[in-house]
Amino acid sequence: MWVQIPPWAFTHRAHSSTVRASALHAEGSWFESRCAHKRSEACPVANLRSCFGVQILQRPQMPFYSVKLLAKKEAAEKTTAFFFEKPKNFKFIAGQFISLYLKKNLIHDFSIASSPKEKDLMITTRMRPSVFKNSLKKLKTGNGVKIEGPFGQLSLHRSSRAKLTTGHGKNKKPPAVFLAGGIGITPFRSMLKSFPDMKITLFYSNRRKKDAAFLEELENLEKQSNNFKLITTMTREKGKHINSEMIKENVKDWRKGIYYAIGSTGFVQSMVNLLSEMKIKPEQIKTENFSGY
Ligand SMILES: Cc1cc2nc3c(=O)[nH]c(=O)nc-3n(C[C@H](O)[C@H](O)[C@H](O)COP(=O)(O)OP(=O)(O)OC[C@H]3O[C@@H](n4cnc5c(N)ncnc54)[C@H](O)[C@@H]3O)c2cc1C
Repeated sequence: MWVQIPPWAFTHRAHSSTVRASALHAEGSWFESRCAHKRSEACPVANLRSCFGVQILQRPQMPFYSVKLLAKKEAAEKTTAFFFEKPKNFKFIAGQFISLYLKKNLIHDFSIASSPKEKDLMITTRMRPSVFKNSLKKLKTGNGVKIEGPFGQLSLHRSSRAKLTTGHGKNKKPPAVFLAGGIGITPFRSMLKSFPDMKITLFYSNRRKKDAAFLEELENLEKQSNNFKLITTMTREKGKHINSEMIKENVKDWRKGIYYAIGSTGFVQSMVNLLSEMKIKPEQIKTENFSGY
């Protein structure tokens, strides 16, 4: 038997009513990695580094669902997409994530890579030989798992969602600039499928071409759209890391852009440093750290 609320949730909730938990949270402890507010950089406590033991510290409790695995598909080398049935009442915004429960204490967070418009719920992950991934690998079509969610504040800024009538570069709304490090592409895929008419430039960095999940699909999306521009770079195949020249060359209104950096903690930090060197204001930058990479 395993409980509906995992131990970390109890711990988090108990501690969040104390000054100690507030301090841990605000100072970047393990608790922080379970907090949806902090992940989206929207947590007022984390931002202010204050220490009030208030309910805002809690990760919101979201419904649990039992869902069946419908299919698995290779999305890149050692990278698998898992398609789960979408519960009827499960609503989410492109950019949000779920917690996937395989067994007691075997829980990982995954951005939803499918768009809300698509029939199934899809997540995509690098298949490493970790305890969690070994268990995930053994899942067979028809097997059930539990998910909790959706969580997270990451979503596309409203003003650029407006339908465009003109080509790339003519829209006055702030352009969206996506900076994806490897598997950090997952929430971007959801956003791109949700808002196909948006003015978006995606910089997609991988070590090798064969590591780049959804590459063919993204290339096709670019061919079909006047507003979506894809720039790939393969850093172990003579490609450069994403840099300011690359951004300035490819994004006409780069000073006005809203930037989204998603990937490993190291990738996100280097993108934030780059953007700050380019004098992009912090309020123009949204991030999601895939802690665990
Ligand atoms: C919001 C969000 C969205 C994400 N979306 C995705 C996604 O779409 N695709 C994807 O592949 N991944 C995603 N991740 C990352 C995912 O949750 C896993 O962390 C990642 O896949 C690595 O899992 P693993 O089983 O391979 O490694 P793990 O076995 O989980 O180990 C990862 C690292 O954490 C360390 N570690 C393990 N347990 C602990 C512990 N108790 N305390 C401290 N350190 C520990 C390990 O030493 C290792 O360095 C997301 C993470 C977040 C927070």
